[in-house]
Amino acid sequence: MSKSVGGTKILLEERDIPTRWYNIQADMPNPLQPPLNPATKQPAGPQDLSPIFPMELIKQEVSTDRWVEIPDEVRELYRLWRPAPLYRARRLEQALDTPARIYYKYEGTSPAGSHKLNTALPQAYYNKQAGIKRLATETGAGQWGSALSIACSFFALECQVYMVKVSYNQKPYRRLFMETYGASVVASPSNLTVAGRHILAEHPDSPGSLGIAISEAVEDAATRDDTNYSLGSVLNHVLLHQTVIGLEAKTQLEKVDDYPDVVIGCCGGGSNFGGLSFPFLHDVFTQGRKVRVIAAEPTACPTLTRGKFAYDFGDTAKLTPMMMMYTLGHDFMPAGIHAGGLRYHGDSPLVSQLYHDGFIEARAYNQKDVFAAAVLFARHEGILPAPESAHAIKGAFEEALAAKEAGEARTILFGLSGHGHFDLSAYEAYLTGMMEDVPYADEDLARSMANLPEIK
Ligand SMILES: *Cc1c(COP(=O)(O)O)cnc(C)c1O
Repeated sequence: MSKSVGGTKILLEERDIPTRWYNIQADMPNPLQPPLNPATKQPAGPQDLSPIFPMELIKQEVSTDRWVEIPDEVRELYRLWRPAPLYRARRLEQALDTPARIYYKYEGTSPAGSHKLNTALPQAYYNKQAGIKRLATETGAGQWGSALSIACSFFALECQVYMVKVSYNQKPYRRLFMETYGASVVASPSNLTVAGRHILAEHPDSPGSLGIAISEAVEDAATRDDTNYSLGSVLNHVLLHQTVIGLEAKTQLEKVDDYPDVVIGCCGGGSNFGGLSFPFLHDVFTQGRKVRVIAAEPTACPTLTRGKFAYDFGDTAKLTPMMMMYTLGHDFMPAGIHAGGLRYHGDSPLVSQLYHDGFIEARAYNQKDVFAAAVLFARHEGILPAPESAHAIKGAFEEALAAKEAGEARTILFGLSGHGHFDLSAYEAYLTGMMEDVPYADEDLARSMANLPEIK
């Protein structure tokens, strides 16, 4: 028996839940490039967004105020599970035999099982305030749909979820989870929209994609006065809401008199990564602190490590505004890896700009290595991680082993964005040796990159 070290949970009081979100647009050295109207290619103004978003969220999208007040109604609901725990991973440190101190901020204690409820609640709140009766959205693996279903039930909004057909068939429990909270869930492509009917006419057996589901949800919202659209990642206001993660983590580390040398998050659309890391980048920008910030992504969808910084569409059908971001091309089809939440061709414009300017590093990992890290983590820390979150675990392992090789202490903070209780078929594939690494083909990437829109 090795020396008992026990994990350390660093808790806060309810009064420590942040009262304001942090807006990094106030501090970043180079401002964002504006989104462009997909038809005119001119900068998109509020009038381009108001058919599908409430004005309060449009304002947050473009705001350069450093702090944005969290409404009391939202903060009250955050109290359901916030402040979220921060753990010192002592058993893991011992297993890795590293001099590094490893901390992780766990967002899986939310009723939705991930960080996504942090933004679903304010999005539902602002839509309710604006007199909206119904929200339409897409979901891939089902995590975002789950969070929005809960938020809509709290604010008595109808919730229409377009769920990528392959996930709809593979993940019946995710669908039932959403339906329990009152959401209507339909497999996408569906016959509820022109976009869906069009695809079904041409490809009756289409498995669907996130790009198609976004097109359906946007069309639904744009064609009904009582309905708005809601997006679970990528946009500036989504990352703004997620900063409660990093703000709490900072307070928790202060309590144990520590501060990270390196902050790591998994990065799909960038919301949990930005939410954890931006409050630390605030210290980099305003106090000259030195913090390394690392985004972890899958090699099967290597947006930051292999993509291009360019204007591109957010969806396959080219309905959304064009955004300046790292992208693999809007028609890039990532392989069906198990971390469904990281299979997005683009990335948050905020994360993209900061990566472009050298404030963020990025690493890409193969899914078998990621699951090996997830299983080791589960066996030492007791929490079964979401496959997405396990990319951050893998990143933390690399840093911890580098610290060991260099023989130096190092404080590592990573984001554990959610639990993997709905992902056990992925664990089954790994544990039975059926999981494969699925790199993208260079020709496919070259083809989708050639389809980037031309600007001027
Ligand atoms: C959706 C999701 C992600 C990826 O989305 P981001 O916007 O990049 O955070 C990561 N982890 C979990 C658990 C998710 O549900």
